[in-house]
Amino acid sequence: MRVGIIGAGHAGVKAAETASAQGAEVHLYSAEPVLPYYRPKLVGYAFGQSSLSEITMHDAAWYESRGIALLLNTPVTSCDLSARSLTSKLGTEKYDALIFATGSLPAVPPFARHALEHIHPLWHLGHAEDIRRLLSPGKRLAVVGGGILGVEVAHRAVLAGLQVVLVERLGHLMESNFGTEASVVVENSLRGMGVRLCLGTCVSSLKKAPAGDFHLQMDSGDSDRADMVILAVGARRDTSLPRTAGLKCGAGILVTAGMQTSDPSVFAGGDIVEWPPCPHFSVYEAVMQGKLAAANALAAAQGGAMAEHKSADVPVSYTYEGFSLNSIGPACENGADEVVLENSAEIHRALLVKAGILIGIQMAGSSVDFRKYEKMIGKKL
Ligand SMILES: Cc1cc2nc3c(=O)[nH]c(=O)nc-3n(C[C@H](O)[C@H](O)[C@H](O)COP(=O)(O)OP(=O)(O)OC[C@H]3O[C@@H](n4cnc5c(N)ncnc54)[C@H](O)[C@@H]3O)c2cc1C
Repeated sequence: MRVGIIGAGHAGVKAAETASAQGAEVHLYSAEPVLPYYRPKLVGYAFGQSSLSEITMHDAAWYESRGIALLLNTPVTSCDLSARSLTSKLGTEKYDALIFATGSLPAVPPFARHALEHIHPLWHLGHAEDIRRLLSPGKRLAVVGGGILGVEVAHRAVLAGLQVVLVERLGHLMESNFGTEASVVVENSLRGMGVRLCLGTCVSSLKKAPAGDFHLQMDSGDSDRADMVILAVGARRDTSLPRTAGLKCGAGILVTAGMQTSDPSVFAGGDIVEWPPCPHFSVYEAVMQGKLAAANALAAAQGGAMAEHKSADVPVSYTYEGFSLNSIGPACENGADEVVLENSAEIHRALLVKAGILIGIQMAGSSVDFRKYEKMIGKKL
């Protein structure tokens, strides 16, 4: 049985591993020219703090030994679901089961649509290489977006010797992960390292200045100059390929709990699927969904029973050079109480408890006991 997998990120590689372990002939199509890598590690790579080998998932022998045909630099350009075939630069090839694992792309806010040539997203290795090439100590960097990605970019950029301004639309950093006190600890840490924070304001325009650098105008009236701008405002899905093929899509590909799409021989997993219980994109979800998509694709083809995916709360974590952020569960919730374990200008550690049940943990500046409490999520405290 031949399984075609489109996309060799976290979901696609896990799907390939799962299908090949069950004896399928696997063709894994990758739009990227390099061996699949751990996407969250791109930030460290962009700032020269990790090497390519440190962020690569597996060497070429790993794929060969499993009989996985890894087709690099080979984007799939169309699929004919009724003929069970897909087309790439290699021509048109048949499949018995198909898995979409095409991931997501960086979101682009309105000001950036007119200035894309001046802005660096950070999503693929190519983006990270562009940033890495332009790095030099003393350069001024503007980071747009103050979620976990923007915070990590700002922190690593300072360590790489850059001068950083971070612009965030909301009033505090990482508002979807942290309550105010934990956010303030993150803000204190970054300010202490020299990062200029512009909170509660959006970039309204970005223009190239006569000196060759960029002028950022914010809607608060504030402004700044930068040599380089990195965008970190979230993700979007590109559904053009599956939609054109005839698969039902909303914001992403619509799937059942078994990761089956509107075509019974096509499955999907990872960022590209619209899976309502999972509000955010994560490696954990992508891996679990990729594995299930492959197992169910084979089960469906052989008339076996299919399993169902259950989303789990996944921690959001970043720890590097003494800077530590960990959160799981909602940032706040009606009827929940915050149990503060430790609070100072440098550290905030707290639990979110509702009706005696631990529903969340927020730790900024220290991760002491995070793993211990993580095991107790959903349980009586
Ligand atoms: C900088 C950064 C930091 C992150 N940090 C974290 C973190 O700390 N923790 C966490 O849980 N998540 C993090 N994420 C999110 C996480 O990386 C994604 O949720 C995860 O990679 C999704 O896996 P995926 O396999 O669905 O998609 P991806 O890993 O994005 O892989 C999809 C692949 O499909 C390829 N592709 C697309 N179209 C085609 C086509 N037509 N033909 C062939 N190939 C195609 C793409 O080029 C890409 O290589 C981060 C993301 C980024 C960008």
